[in-house]
Amino acid sequence: MLVNNIYQTIGNTPLLKLDITAPNDVNIYAKLEMFNPGGSVKDRLGVNLIEDGLKKGKITKNTTIIEPTAGNTGIGVALAAQKYHLPVKLVVPEKFSQEKQILMKALGAQIIHTPSSQGITGAIKKAQELASEIENSYVPLQFRNPANPEAYYKTLGPEIIADLKGINVTALVAGSGSGGTFVGVTQALQEKYPDMQAITVEPEGSILNGGVEHDHRIEGIGVEFVPPFFNSINIDSVETISDDIAFYYVKWLAKNQGVFAGSSSGAALAAALRVAESLPDNSNIVTIFPDSSERYLSKGIYD
Ligand code: PMP
Repeated sequence: MLVNNIYQTIGNTPLLKLDITAPNDVNIYAKLEMFNPGGSVKDRLGVNLIEDGLKKGKITKNTTIIEPTAGNTGIGVALAAQKYHLPVKLVVPEKFSQEKQILMKALGAQIIHTPSSQGITGAIKKAQELASEIENSYVPLQFRNPANPEAYYKTLGPEIIADLKGINVTALVAGSGSGGTFVGVTQALQEKYPDMQAITVEPEGSILNGGVEHDHRIEGIGVEFVPPFFNSINIDSVETISDDIAFYYVKWLAKNQGVFAGSSSGAALAAALRVAESLPDNSNIVTIFPDSSERYLSKGIYD
């Protein structure tokens, strides 16, 4: 495959039918988003956030892009901004993986840390403060920007439909951080499969099922506030997954399927297996594996 730039390699990731005996002989299909050039599902978002800002005139020549991020969005935004020679500042809570931060810097972004105890809410506040101080700056703000679910509605959802070649989807089971991936893919898939159940996944320590907010080891999913995008779809249920179970499946995926997947993928698989218990025989679940385990090796993901 000859390409003229790295952006042409974003998307068109494989959809892997897992070799797993799930309850009720349910089939589980996982979209392998670690195959994107920046290593995650968020490359799709980076491009859409930057191109949406350019189209709307919010980004012009030399606009400084400022974004609060747990890491993968930062990599996606830094990659996309490079195409337009835009400077990037990423506001990252300290706790997130070193690998992601090293990659953001390698792409040319500057990192500003906020205390882990203030969570993503602290990073959002800091990004807005910086934007008020820096002339000609723009905060795409993935947590509220409709260009976030739109990125997945336009690319990831249609790809899954095309990959499946007519196979029906009984349920989508996908994690939520900003909620953009889950909402955009749900909207695209439900146009094709109106009866599809939309089930999202959160770690213990996230609030969607009414739990108390606390720290968790799973990275990338979990919310401190209900994503505003959730208003535009019907959610059938939320599966809350513990760190231990997610990391069990991270190891299982490497050892049994040859798949290096991060902890939000492990959580998604655990949730898919749980959902399978209540589905009719031979149903089809689609899930999304957002990134690779390789960006969490320093955190002992396989220990
Ligand atoms: N998994 C990982 C590893 C992520 O980085 C993210 C994005 N924070 C997600 C899942 C969730 O994606 P979204 O923000 O679209 O809900």
